[in-house]
Amino acid sequence: MTFENRPVWKRWNSKETVEGAGVKLRRAFGFFEKTLTDPFLLLDDFRSDTEKDFIAGFPWHPHRGIETVTYMLAGNMEHQDSLGSKGVVGPDEIQWMTAGSGIVHTEMPHSEKGVLGGFQLWVNLPKDHKMMNPRYQDIRAGGIVEVPLSGIGKMRVIAGGFDKWVGPVQDLITHVHYLDISLDPHAVIDIPARKGYTTIAYVIGGCGRFSPRDREMCCDHTVVLFGDGDVATIEAGELGARFLFLSGKPIRETVAWYGPIVMNTEEEIRQAFNEYENGTFVKGR
Ligand code: FE
Repeated sequence: MTFENRPVWKRWNSKETVEGAGVKLRRAFGFFEKTLTDPFLLLDDFRSDTEKDFIAGFPWHPHRGIETVTYMLAGNMEHQDSLGSKGVVGPDEIQWMTAGSGIVHTEMPHSEKGVLGGFQLWVNLPKDHKMMNPRYQDIRAGGIVEVPLSGIGKMRVIAGGFDKWVGPVQDLITHVHYLDISLDPHAVIDIPARKGYTTIAYVIGGCGRFSPRDREMCCDHTVVLFGDGDVATIEAGELGARFLFLSGKPIRETVAWYGPIVMNTEEEIRQAFNEYENGTFVKGR
């Protein structure tokens, strides 16, 4: 059996933007690429060592129709929501929140000695699950599967799987793989990525080449969107490379998106905002 290497189809840099109550962050995607990144909607990178850039946080706001995945590396994200839950997502922890029919929450970042590190990914829900009951999966420190890659680096499996390792986030509605891969200098890795799945890497450290046919060095803040194939082959540069690796089954439905609410039609968006205004947004459970 021969495997087809995925080429690099497009690459770009995450862009600075302002979200929440004035948080300066970098958006890897989520501006206009939704048909390219389906089933992923958005990836925000809030790594910062400038406290005033993030201290305002993300006060009360609604979500419907999506899942949000918060992955922290440094500092923590304190959250509180309309279901009455409260908690903190700390370093090396994940919160996979299925907003479903609706959650209203706050997310307030706190630094660790002035440093904040983390990412928030939005995964779309298919039409028949957009109004499901909201739920959380909290993965505590130590719960992420750490895979030693002999002689080439290490990998954290957050969701989906790699080889015989399976990530701790279970029962995913939209089938996705979410990996955090650190490669030693000049190491080469083959990552299986199912044909037809949208596959993206986001570089968060060092540099690497993301296809044997593309010699361009991609460094921190670069988004790599792969073309189709069975396997992504990545070669780290001389200082190694660290990147988030996402692969997911496209949903291929119409997307109506306004801020934190992502539905299939404009009518559903209007309805969601009307409900938010008249206090009937949260369906509870
Ligand atoms: Fe939120």
